[in-house]
Amino acid sequence: MTPEGLALLRRAAAELSLDLSAQEGQFARLLELLQAGNQRLNLTALKTEEDIILKHFIDSLTTLRGGHLNGEWRTLDLGTGAGFPALPLALAQPKLSLVPLDSIRKKIDFVRETAQALGLSQVTPLVGRAETLGQSEEHRGQYDRVVARAVAALPVLAELALPLLRVGGLFVAQKGPISDEELNAGRRAAGEVGGRVVEVDEFNLPISGDARTLVVLEKQRPTPAKYPRREGVPTHQPLFWKAK
Ligand code: SAH
Repeated sequence: MTPEGLALLRRAAAELSLDLSAQEGQFARLLELLQAGNQRLNLTALKTEEDIILKHFIDSLTTLRGGHLNGEWRTLDLGTGAGFPALPLALAQPKLSLVPLDSIRKKIDFVRETAQALGLSQVTPLVGRAETLGQSEEHRGQYDRVVARAVAALPVLAELALPLLRVGGLFVAQKGPISDEELNAGRRAAGEVGGRVVEVDEFNLPISGDARTLVVLEKQRPTPAKYPRREGVPTHQPLFWKAK
């Protein structure tokens, strides 16, 4: 990481009231691994140091707003891609035990290698689909927290995430600006799968000022057995929402 990159990381972290001074070396290593992995695997569209620091690292850490991830929570990152928000979260919040999930094996191989290189033994990446896990005894109802960034519309996410939570668990969805239509469909979908939208936190990303929204759903009762529907259906026939 260049001195400019480090200054950016510090300034943006301070805006989020985060002290990352003990983890700066690990963030620098993560940046290197991501840039090297990107050349090999084409993992992310963001390539400059500044973009990776702000739009991957800091953006991922905005999930810490509100304190919902401040605990020894068993947490699943639904659709982690190259490891976001899971890897920055694992560095900044080592108490979390994290399961980065993605259906694409090469992405999970990268996340596993990277977690190992960073010594993150509390990170256990998994190849699979949320629809399948949500109907499996091993994963359904097993998580305290689910997070997801840039994966699907809110009603789709509600159907995929809520079955994985225990009753009382929280789903933190990272969105850009969200329309009233999507939010309303998300509220109705949440009710259908056993939960409720409990928080809509609109804010701007440090430095760039880009609009972001964290939508927090609480699971309040067990999800009906028919959810999640089989692979692909939540996306192609979203609850209360027009498919894209
Ligand atoms: N969260 C990452 C990646 C976003 S791209 C980031 O913000 O950078 C969305 C990712 O979700 C893709 O890698 C895709 O493979 C994965 N995905 C989409 N639907 C999924 C599902 N139903 N189960 C598991 N992974 C899924």
